[in-house]
Amino acid sequence: MVNLLQFDRDGLAAWCEQQGEKPFRATQLFRWMHQRGVADFGAMSDLAATFRDKLRAAAVIAPLPVASEQVASDGTVKWLFDVGGGDAVETVFIPEPGRGTLCISSQAGCAVNCRFCATGHQGFSRNLSSAEIVAQLWHAEFALRRRLSLAPGERAVTNVVMMGMGEPLQNYAALLPALRTMLDDHGYGLSRRRVTVSTSGVVPMIDRLRDDCPVALAVSLHAPDDALRDDLVPLNRKYPIAELLAACRRYLERAPRDFVTLEYCMLDGVNDSAGHAAALLALVSNDGAAGRPGLACKINLIPFNPFPQSELKRSPPARVAEFAAVLQAGGIVTTVRRTRGDDIAAACGQLAGEVQDRTQVAARRERAMAIVVAPPASRRRGALGTQPGQRA
Ligand code: SAH
Ligand code: SF4
Repeated sequence: MVNLLQFDRDGLAAWCEQQGEKPFRATQLFRWMHQRGVADFGAMSDLAATFRDKLRAAAVIAPLPVASEQVASDGTVKWLFDVGGGDAVETVFIPEPGRGTLCISSQAGCAVNCRFCATGHQGFSRNLSSAEIVAQLWHAEFALRRRLSLAPGERAVTNVVMMGMGEPLQNYAALLPALRTMLDDHGYGLSRRRVTVSTSGVVPMIDRLRDDCPVALAVSLHAPDDALRDDLVPLNRKYPIAELLAACRRYLERAPRDFVTLEYCMLDGVNDSAGHAAALLALVSNDGAAGRPGLACKINLIPFNPFPQSELKRSPPARVAEFAAVLQAGGIVTTVRRTRGDDIAAACGQLAGEVQDRTQVAARRERAMAIVVAPPASRRRGALGTQPGQRA
């Protein structure tokens, strides 16, 4: 049985053709699934009975089983989806006046292993499939439409951010059809500026995304120099800051009226001094001597959301304000993210997807270590005072 949630519209058309059906049938079917949330082929009244029989025999529209749902006092909703094998992933809906943002996961766990991230701490388990990525949106959109009693045609989810668990650009093959389904006018019809891919900096895949599907790009920077970033975001050892920012500039060639959002998690005493702010400002400003143009960017300061075992602290608000002021004085649009869903641990970086089989955690850490670039031995000791084993 094939799960039809895995296909973008072209993929579905190709599959329909294999079944001996005209490609336009795929558009009808796609609309039933993604515009009306219908999973029962029998209810798709404008499809021929013979086609519906074929569908029943060969395919399913299979949502993800919901392991739990929590609603915070500010209206934030967090779902935990069971993806099998003892793994679970989290999806968060953040309502705001005039919009609803859905934060979607791309992997069970994450191999990048950033020091300040609960998902990274958990290690890498596996990539989600396209169907599992889209199923998060499918469930949220139609569950919320029912709950909020929205008028026909009104959408619950107006924006998607790939900022849940996992590194989306380390799961590119599954990500791409899912993004296309989100953007498709016969699917969720989200404009490309309302779909954001957030990455810790997988440089070659930033280029691929630019060529295939240039949605809004957010880059998790967190440090203005390589020594500190090597320590906080281990992927930096493979793709250092200069290469990462060059990829951001190339990205914007495709979308010259856009900007890149740089995310910066504020860690007390680690990356939050006025000196760090000045260095960050220099990094994104025009540098005539080096022949480097400025980067069209906005900077989003994220107050660190602590979790047990992180051994890090949130920067005090006054320090965050001071940091923001340095950037703003340099002409960079800078915002400070409000934390949401505090009472249900739904904020950035707190998503760990309660894993049922805790005994697998050690094995997953090992795998994460193997997947992420092995640093040269000399650097492994110095900058990396904190390997995952030690942090556990
Ligand atoms: N892997 C991608 C997307 C998921 S993480 C990435 O790293 O960009 C989404 C955002 O949450 C990133 O900017 C990440 O740095 C941030 N984040 C992770 N842990 C956090 C924490 N404990 N507190 C605040 N932000 C955190
Ligand atoms: Fe992975 Fe992003 Fe967490 Fe880093 S911050 S460990 S890349 S999910």
